[in-house]
Amino acid sequence: APQPLLGPTEIRDLAEQLGIRPTKTLGQNFVIDPNTIRRIVAAAQLHRGQDDDGAAAAPGDTVLEVGPGLGSLTLGLLDAAEHVVAVEIDPPLAEQLPSTVARFRPERTGAIDVVRADAMTVTELPRTPDALVANLPYNVAVPVLLHLLGRFPSIGHGLVMVQDEVANRLAASPGSKVYGVPSVKASWFAEVTKAGVIGTQVFWPAPRISSGLVRFVRRAQPVAEIGAGDAMSLTGSRAEVADREAVFTVVDAAFAQRRKTLRAALAGWAGSGAEAETVLDAAGVPPTERGEKLDVGQFAAIAAAGVRRGI
Ligand code: SAM
Repeated sequence: APQPLLGPTEIRDLAEQLGIRPTKTLGQNFVIDPNTIRRIVAAAQLHRGQDDDGAAAAPGDTVLEVGPGLGSLTLGLLDAAEHVVAVEIDPPLAEQLPSTVARFRPERTGAIDVVRADAMTVTELPRTPDALVANLPYNVAVPVLLHLLGRFPSIGHGLVMVQDEVANRLAASPGSKVYGVPSVKASWFAEVTKAGVIGTQVFWPAPRISSGLVRFVRRAQPVAEIGAGDAMSLTGSRAEVADREAVFTVVDAAFAQRRKTLRAALAGWAGSGAEAETVLDAAGVPPTERGEKLDVGQFAAIAAAGVRRGI
């Protein structure tokens, strides 16, 4: 039988017992709806590593959860994955999590590690994560996601809940109105797709705006490093690559002045408009184009051409 998940009564009781009042600055909106938890966990496509009789099946996932809060999602993840590493910044929430797990999933107490840390800067985890599943704190969702994808290459896939407009941005394609820096950077790491919308009433306290689910699968062949000698591209049309930092610098410059042509927007980065044009030509990108039309492979080509020109 499916294990019970935390509903409104359990969440409010837990908060009261622990003397916890949700704070806005830490994006504390707790999920109080078991169906939403089931939806998130199902969409995350995790492997438990054991079949129902406890016999070993395929190796299970170690899931990184950011911001476990009172544990709503954590319990669902413990049912669906082999191990959970939960990173929580708020000390009282981090401290209570093991006892919440002991109370609601006594047989799974050995399957969780709780780390009290800032997910935006965390560099070490007690286990190697295969997946990331989180109801992210909204004010820092994009930097947390990008930091974790960059820092922990073992994260092969995941599902995050973010503000719906941020979800649309992360999953946007070139040419879309909401395509921008987060879209390109996320797509450097992974194939990103929108996996649903979640209303406000499943949270306590209810946020003002809807949330969106974002699923990602890391690219099998990450974009190679400059100097590695490899020739590959994400688009298949260009044979140039660059390292992440160089590419992200170009992306930031291109979108800092969104309405400008790339020749103008990249003049500061290249040293002059003329040099920017030379680099763009070398990368096969029209200098009159705008950043919002380029895919990540084209940004990589520009960065690589820039490195060859000594930028
Ligand atoms: N997972 C819980 C749920 O779904 O009910 C809580 C989600 S709540 C939207 C975000 C959680 O992230 C809170 O528990 C908050 O304390 C935590 N948090 C906020 N900023 C953080 C950071 N920089 N690093 C780690 N956790 C953070």
